[in-house]
This record gives sequence, structure tokens and C-alpha cells, in this order.
Amino acid sequence: MILLSIDELNIQVYGCRKCRLWQGAKHGVPGEGPLNAKVMLIGQNPGADEDETGRPFVGRAGKFLSKTLAEFGIEREKVFITNIVKHVSPKNRKPYPDEVAACLPYVNIQINVIKPKIIVLIGASAKETPRVEGIKYIQIIHPSAAMRFTNMGEKFRVQIAEVAKLIGAIDS
Ligand code: SF4
Repeated sequence: MILLSIDELNIQVYGCRKCRLWQGAKHGVPGEGPLNAKVMLIGQNPGADEDETGRPFVGRAGKFLSKTLAEFGIEREKVFITNIVKHVSPKNRKPYPDEVAACLPYVNIQINVIKPKIIVLIGASAKETPRVEGIKYIQIIHPSAAMRFTNMGEKFRVQIAEVAKLIGAIDS
């Protein structure tokens, strides 16, 4: 794996043509957050609001995620948030396996540069994210599902509480 700086990686994502998804996108969404973050949140792919702004998890679900993190004492500004696939899909369909495979090197580089202690896998990203030894992984429900269904919302809060507990354990 070629280790790029995050700035170099971002530039590569903005100009990337490794799969078809860039064609229907307005902006690449490489991810954002401090480079010394102990926690990385990884979703599957950006949606329309993210495509519009070039920023991850900024739509309704993203706001709900940020609000719930804050309720449990986790500041969004202190975590690195990204997606496995960096461009929006047509009609927000699930990315195809070849698109995931083409984009996966970027998240691998991000993990290698940031070296988080904890990775929070959001929704479907759990199946696709490679596991690195020494990092704790925790899977959470996608916030859009948590917003829609009461039982999922309750489970989501329990999962975020677990994330907060894990962060507390590495901080102590
Ligand atoms: S989705 Fe990933 S692999 Fe496909 S064009 Fe965008 S950055 Fe490149």
C-alpha cells in the first residue's frame, strides 16, 4: 500500500476515476476529522447531502448521529468520519462490489495514517471494512434506521453508549 498524506489522498479522491461513480457525483467525499483521532467512524457511502457539500454525514441522519454522539459525551469534531466508498451512487443505490473494491484502498490508507484505537462501523460498512489487528471494532445501526424505527433507535442509543464506554476505557 502506498502511504499518502491525508491531503494527497483527498486530492486523489477528488480526481479519482477508478470506478463509474464519479460520473454522477458533484463532489468526492473523502472524510473529515483530526488526524490524531482515536476514533474513526466508517459508513458505507455518501448520500445526496454529502454529495452536495463534499462532507460526510451532514444530512438528517448525520445530524442525528452527531446529536446522539454528543448526548453521550462524544464530540464529532474529535472523531474522524468517512465512508468506504467516496462518491455518491445513482439514486443512492448500494455500491456494487467492484465499486467497493476500487475504493477500499482509500479507507485502508486513512486507517493506516490515522491509526485509530477504535473503529465504529456504521450499518452495512461492517461487512466490507477490513479488520486490522490491535484496533477495537464496534458495529452500530445506521442512524437513518435508528431515526425511523423506535426499537432500532433504542438499540442505537445502547450501541452509542457502548462506544462512549470504550472511549472512556482507552482514555483512562
Ligand atoms: S467511488 Fe471511490 S473508486 Fe470510485 S471514483 Fe469515487 S473515489 Fe474513485
